[in-house]
Amino acid sequence: MSKETKEYDVIIIGAGPGGMTAAVYASRANLNTLVLDRGPYGGQMNNTDAIDNYPGFLEIKGPDLADKMHETATKFDAEFAYGDVQSVELDGNMKVVKTDTAEYKAPVVIIATGADHRKLGVPGEEEYSGRGVSYCAVCDAAFFKDEDVAVIGGGDSAIEEGNYLSQMAKSVTDIHRRDKLRAQPSLQKRAFANPKMSFVWDANTTAIVGDGQKVTGVEYIDKDTGEKKEVKAAGVFIYVGVVPQTAAFKNLGILDEKGWIPTDENMHTKVPGIFALGDVRQKNLRQIANAVGDGSIAGQEAYNYIQDLNDK
Ligand SMILES: Cc1cc2nc3c(=O)[nH]c(=O)nc-3n(C[C@H](O)[C@H](O)[C@H](O)COP(=O)(O)OP(=O)(O)OC[C@H]3O[C@@H](n4cnc5c(N)ncnc54)[C@H](O)[C@@H]3O)c2cc1C
Repeated sequence: MSKETKEYDVIIIGAGPGGMTAAVYASRANLNTLVLDRGPYGGQMNNTDAIDNYPGFLEIKGPDLADKMHETATKFDAEFAYGDVQSVELDGNMKVVKTDTAEYKAPVVIIATGADHRKLGVPGEEEYSGRGVSYCAVCDAAFFKDEDVAVIGGGDSAIEEGNYLSQMAKSVTDIHRRDKLRAQPSLQKRAFANPKMSFVWDANTTAIVGDGQKVTGVEYIDKDTGEKKEVKAAGVFIYVGVVPQTAAFKNLGILDEKGWIPTDENMHTKVPGIFALGDVRQKNLRQIANAVGDGSIAGQEAYNYIQDLNDK
């Protein structure tokens, strides 16, 4: 039996902050707007404890900000639905979006699929995933109350989440391959002043070690001495970068060699009527504020694109 194909003006793939903002702008411009996500709305904000750099809120929890953005988008009648998008195909001016369960059509598709954590790729990482290895402090910190934990990485996420973990854990050791952090100075300041946090510098993590049931520590090579060493830890939180979520869009020829999507300043990709925004774009800064900025532009450009089509 063939699937029924529902038509919209705009289909937004991804309900993170960028996708939800595009939904606000598109639906407020009276476009019939569908937002698809394979998970709950909110994207990476759901894995973030305290956000203190999004203007308008001195500090807000990620899931609370997600609720507020969802409320704003649905106020203007954007429709949200479950859908794990497998592909987008071109059919004249229309784009056919295929999910695992349904098929949709629209002249405009906005890709807002963001990024996901990068794996470290060392022995023990897969084996102990969910048994001490985690990529989300907000989700898993409570399992490590009064335990020693390790964080791997030196960027914003590693340091922010290390600070968060210290509220519950006995100690937090940050293991970093360089001799200084990349995280924003304000996060660094907080971490260096945190009595529960300590740092292992110039360390190449080589394995997550365990007793067969659960994690017991992190093995690393001290780059200065070449010595193999170990940090004892019941939990290991890995923050070593992100990878774009673009597997479904390979056929469109819009990805760069690393899988990110280049756009112009108005979020247009190489394919007319397909826009990209937020973390999935080829850019330097991946934050909520600029995902939201991108989303406002993409939503408005969707309107302009449809007006142009109607005028032809
Ligand atoms: C631990 C952590 C802490 C952070 N702290 C901060 C902070 O304090 N301040 C700040 O500004 N930023 C912070 N960030 C970064 C911020 O969360 C991201 O920049 C922002 O969420 C990007 O928004 P986005 O809309 O581009 O994509 P995302 O938030 O990545 O959302 C993408 C959505 O697309 C969905 N998706 C992906 N592929 C598909 C598919 N094929 N089909 C359907 N749906 C799909 C995903 O399920 C997801 O919901 C943090 C990130 C992390 C991980």
